[in-house]
Amino acid sequence: MELTLDGVSKHYGETTALAGLSATVGDGEFFTLVGPSGCGKTTTLRLLAGFEEPSAGEVRFDGESMAGVPPEDRGVGLVFQSYALFPHMTVAENVGYGLRFAEVPGGVSTDERVAELLELVDLEGMGPRDPTELSGGQQQRVALARALAPGPDLLLLDEPMSALDARLRERLRRDVREIQRELGVTTVYVTHDQAEALAISDRVAVLSDGRLEQVGRPRELYRRPSSRFVAEFLGENNVFEGSVVDASGPADETEGSAVRVAGREFRLPPVGAASVAFCVRPAAFEVDAGENRLTGEVLDTEFLGETTRVHLQWEGRRVVVAVDDPPEGGEVTVGFDPEDAWVL
Ligand code: ATP
Repeated sequence: MELTLDGVSKHYGETTALAGLSATVGDGEFFTLVGPSGCGKTTTLRLLAGFEEPSAGEVRFDGESMAGVPPEDRGVGLVFQSYALFPHMTVAENVGYGLRFAEVPGGVSTDERVAELLELVDLEGMGPRDPTELSGGQQQRVALARALAPGPDLLLLDEPMSALDARLRERLRRDVREIQRELGVTTVYVTHDQAEALAISDRVAVLSDGRLEQVGRPRELYRRPSSRFVAEFLGENNVFEGSVVDASGPADETEGSAVRVAGREFRLPPVGAASVAFCVRPAAFEVDAGENRLTGEVLDTEFLGETTRVHLQWEGRRVVVAVDDPPEGGEVTVGFDPEDAWVL
């Protein structure tokens, strides 16, 4: 099922929760909405589910307007942050709940369908149990099975992992991804966790203040952010602002530009403006190497196993670099190459 949001806005009195959001989610795609608290993620999901109607714009499923179509007629499966399982029902009854109102997919009995789903989420034989007898991760699997049982065309997941601890979250997100691929169900996932968004998605939409900042594949967003907001929101980044001292014309594109930041000149890819903001990821820096060097004072080091994150004080600003075996204190010179800088 292909999903379209066409200039969708949502106002609550004076508050604008969404301001003209347009996006298309392809059939079978895993599409993630990510952004800080209050940026409009849950509102978008509620509009897709049909719990709310847009103030302007349109939601379409396979080209068909969803205006006035109630939630139960949209063929949508939902999983929320809180497991929201029915406590007075067994696991099997929970999974079978949605099948009471829908045709059981695959022409099998309700019991067979429930067994199928429990197997899919790796909970075979747990059907007779009470939800309270399950761990948080298992309860969330039941919630997923319940949402998938009627064979929805669209799966909506609102921060489904946020109540789980880090290890369990990673495991469950791999499983969710695998199940989603196996079923090929179009999925919209909401999270405020940028690392999770990058890890799980086919494409990610970064929202800020009810607007779309950027949409793209995880690698593309990470490597080529279109704005300072995206550069800083997705993973750690160093953003520098400077003035271009020799704007190179199109004739010598290979030359690049010299950009002055805090009295120091850096060589960057060609910049066609007088002033510029650019970002350099912590991992792009090396100690005593790279064309563009800076010497800073070590403020703090964090050993992370694979690498060490070092916070440097340089010309009144903080620069974060990820390097092997850095000095514990004092001054250190680090550098990056022009191609590691991304001009915003
Ligand atoms: P979070 O990550 O904190 O859940 P979110 O990105 O999901 O945030 P939304 O819940 O979509 O954000 O809210 C977007 C904006 O709309 C916020 O400013 C919020 O206060 C406002 N809002 C959401 N629902 C309502 C409502 N029913 N009435 C009034 N304002 C609302």
